[in-house]
Amino acid sequence: MTTPYDPTNIFARILRGEIPAHRVYEDADTLAFMDVMPQAEGHTLVIPKAPARGLLDAEPASLAAVAATVQRVARAVKAAFTADGLTIFQYNEPAGGQTVFHLHFHILPRHEGVALTGHTGRMADPERLAEHAARIRAALAA
Ligand code: 5GP
Repeated sequence: MTTPYDPTNIFARILRGEIPAHRVYEDADTLAFMDVMPQAEGHTLVIPKAPARGLLDAEPASLAAVAATVQRVARAVKAAFTADGLTIFQYNEPAGGQTVFHLHFHILPRHEGVALTGHTGRMADPERLAEHAARIRAALAA
């Protein structure tokens, strides 16, 4: 049996504007914002606006919109952080490493020889996140 979508999850609350996020991109179907506990500078999340717990219960059209936004934002993240590469990941269910149960894709800029930091569980400095978000928004507008 699949677990139903819980509309009280933290990303649903960000979508509803109930809690703040450093937003970098938004369209009719998707939203992108900075991960509050980044595993690399520029760690960005992309989510659909339509409720979906993970990859398996998302509507194909919503998934297609998310994929397009992941590509668009990934290009901007790569430019904004002069990255050598990118790591994109997406977890499903606790056994798969998922901790927030609204479908999301992680975008991480990568530099040669620099390992990702693990999850520290510590919030990043909000001013730094705001500066990173501004950099990505500028790259999106370029
Ligand atoms: P998951 O393990 O479910 O793929 O990742 C959830 C991600 O959401 C984690 O990287 C975590 O740092 C991030 N996160 C958790 N709570 C918040 C929040 O309130 N705001 C933002 N922007 N990111 C969050």
